[in-house]
Amino acid sequence: MASVDHRVKVTMIEHYTETLFRFRCERPPHLKFRAGQFIMIGLEIDGKPVMRAYSITSPEWDEELEFYSIKIQDGPLTSKLQHIQVGDEVLLSGRAVGNLLPFSLREGERLWLLSTGTGVAPFGSILRDELTYQKFGKVFLTHTCRKINDLQYSQQLAEMVYNDPLCDDYAQKQFHYYNSVTRDPGHPRQGRITDLIRSGKLFDDLGVEPGFDPDRDRVMLCGSMEFNLEVKDILEEAGLRQTSGRNIGEYVLEKAFVG
Ligand SMILES: Cc1cc2nc3c(=O)[nH]c(=O)nc-3n(C[C@H](O)[C@H](O)[C@H](O)COP(=O)(O)OP(=O)(O)OC[C@H]3O[C@@H](n4cnc5c(N)ncnc54)[C@H](O)[C@@H]3O)c2cc1C
Repeated sequence: MASVDHRVKVTMIEHYTETLFRFRCERPPHLKFRAGQFIMIGLEIDGKPVMRAYSITSPEWDEELEFYSIKIQDGPLTSKLQHIQVGDEVLLSGRAVGNLLPFSLREGERLWLLSTGTGVAPFGSILRDELTYQKFGKVFLTHTCRKINDLQYSQQLAEMVYNDPLCDDYAQKQFHYYNSVTRDPGHPRQGRITDLIRSGKLFDDLGVEPGFDPDRDRVMLCGSMEFNLEVKDILEEAGLRQTSGRNIGEYVLEKAFVG
């Protein structure tokens, strides 16, 4: 069971839909993390801590921590977490972990951050880290959800990246945001990202060279298991190798992520 090392106060909450929200909380003074990592967060429920893994969306330099969350109506944690108010206490484990790090990839001309649902969360931190832009030429964030409304957080994130106090100059030259939906006819870009990759529409829409090339492209994946496996197949077919231990490859994924 995850240890409870800190109790911190919630400082801000923003609800997007009936199933999605973000919140900010105090950051314990000695809590360090690398952009892309996750931490255990939770609440005390019926006298016991209920803890779950959460990617940190805020940048490393931020004085607070930020998280982007699902609301599962019968979920042990999020059925309660969705009702938190400013000033309430949340629990944190002491150490951030995870290998979804730009550090785990070789330098490259293009970095693709591919996400579905709440899987976009770790990219919030990675996109506001100067090192990301120093290591890679162009940086593309893709986010796919069922409905247009579910894209609100990533749209807002893209704005925050373009206006970030540290990364705005880099972002304006190097960062591109792309979204699509699978169940909302009102949006101009329809379909799962895997289909948009295979058909070439993703690359056409962005006006860049099509396909993935191990000499040029680096990829980070975070989303549902089905999405992770499908993209993994596409990347392996194109000759990209997954980073494993000390063998640095051309792509990394967050294995256990559900969103
Ligand atoms: C490494 C890692 C990082 C994670 N980061 C985040 C994050 O940044 N934001 C976040 O909202 N969740 C994240 N999760 C999922 C999170 O740990 C919890 O599962 C989630 O908060 C729901 O908790 P719960 O106790 O309410 O329900 P749980 O009992 O944990 O889950 C109930 C069911 O809900 C579904 N589910 C759980 N989480 C999600 C999700 N995010 N999106 C869609 N369906 C889901 C699954 O089918 C699951 O079986 C992450 C998980 C891992 C392993």
